[in-house]
Amino acid sequence: MFENLSERLSGVFDRLTKQGALSPEDVKSALREVRVALLEADVSLEVARDFIKAVEKKATGASVTKSVTPGQQVVKIVHDELVGVLTGDEDPGRLKIDNPPAPILMVGLQGSGKTTTTAKLAKRLKEREGKKVLMASLDTNRPAAMEQLAILGAQIGVDTLPIVKGEDAIAIAKRAKTQASFGGYDVYMLDTAGRLHIDAELIAQAAAVRDVANPRETLLVVDGLTGQDAVNVAEEFDDKIGVSGVVLTRMDGDGRGGAALSMRAVTGKPIRFVGLGEKMDAIEEFHAERIAGRILG
Ligand code: GDP
Repeated sequence: MFENLSERLSGVFDRLTKQGALSPEDVKSALREVRVALLEADVSLEVARDFIKAVEKKATGASVTKSVTPGQQVVKIVHDELVGVLTGDEDPGRLKIDNPPAPILMVGLQGSGKTTTTAKLAKRLKEREGKKVLMASLDTNRPAAMEQLAILGAQIGVDTLPIVKGEDAIAIAKRAKTQASFGGYDVYMLDTAGRLHIDAELIAQAAAVRDVANPRETLLVVDGLTGQDAVNVAEEFDDKIGVSGVVLTRMDGDGRGGAALSMRAVTGKPIRFVGLGEKMDAIEEFHAERIAGRILG
């Protein structure tokens, strides 16, 4: 399906005379290939353009070392630049959960993988850090979503706040806080309501919950396969709610990871975790190198 970028670039350079330094023309033809690779990886046009400019600066006049071909050299420059842009947090997997009980707010659109990610992170906190975690669903419009969190909780051995019919999201958030304080929990996770699209009510509710809970982390869950849409969603949520990090789900899918680059370049928010499947262990902290490799193909 995709041609590997290194192969493409060696194709370009095979047609050129070998010189000791990368001439501007060499770099230009190489960058055309890089651009195609980025766009195929679903990086937005604007981000691809800025990225190419930055690489062009670094690559023009860079001397070609004997051990590598000009193509490999450009690939390395592109790779390093990708890693530079993608890196947003030195320790993305470390959640700020001191001062128990620490609230973590989970936000995102319906279907993004928010509930699944809430449970995956709870399991991680329990198993890796020995934390006592409480999860609460605030999705009062969708009883099935509340049930889903309870089922996942039972499966992974993490407590969920009992469901009380007729309660609104704010009341649930307050009850979660009380239960977490009196129950000796280290962390409580609030799984907010999701909608198919961002609307005023969704944002207003998430903001109201944020004000009640005063979260240490607000994690936005977005579907990594939705490319530019994911970036628009992140901008909007960050603008209205303020997010401390992004979780990209479905990175086990066919996508090339371009959403990650656009996400970083446009929102500046660190990507903290990536979801790699439906199973409760299918999550890992974000590694810039891995995504860079995937974008380059
Ligand atoms: P929510 O509406 O945002 O809470 O989404 P859910 O957590 O219910 O997830 C929707 C669907 O996506 C479920 O079938 C999940 O198992 C699936 N899902 C969530 N995260 C991932 C992921 O990283 N990879 C894959 N392949 N599926 C995922």
